Amino acid sequence: MAYDPNNIFAKIIRGEAPCFKVYEDNSTIAFLDIMPQAEGHTLVIPKERAETIFDLSPDSAAALITTTQKVAAAVKQVTKSPGILLAQLNGAAAGQSVFHIHFHIIPRSSGIDLNLHARDKADFDKLKSLAAKISATLQ
Ligand code: 5GP
Repeated sequence: MAYDPNNIFAKIIRGEAPCFKVYEDNSTIAFLDIMPQAEGHTLVIPKERAETIFDLSPDSAAALITTTQKVAAAVKQVTKSPGILLAQLNGAAAGQSVFHIHFHIIPRSSGIDLNLHARDKADFDKLKSLAAKISATLQ
């Protein structure tokens, strides 16, 4: 399948769609998932156009995992979560629903179940406040 330049993450990269941004550098952007599976669920994307991990250049792959590691530490600190789940889905058969590669950073605590994937929108005021805290931790 050819990369769709109108997918929602491509629009976020171009500034054509809003997001609750927590981090940006020359190669990557991280922002909160608006339908979080847990409080603090964050997405990290490369700016390079790539649908799955198989389409990504080695340089973008390196930048993507470096940003994921950095942002995951801030998410863990702000949400005071003992565990962090990283997930990365390739292809509809794997459950991918937005076709621009991304890592999910999902805080985990034992005994707390995850919300369903991409189901319920969170309160945007709460997302805004959380994004500000994560972003401040990364300064
Ligand atoms: P995938 O299923 O492709 O691995 O994950 C896509 C993720 O993007 C889902 O967790 C879903 O909640 C999230 N998502 C879908 N639309 C938007 C959006 O417009 N903004 C943000 N921030 N996240 C979105």
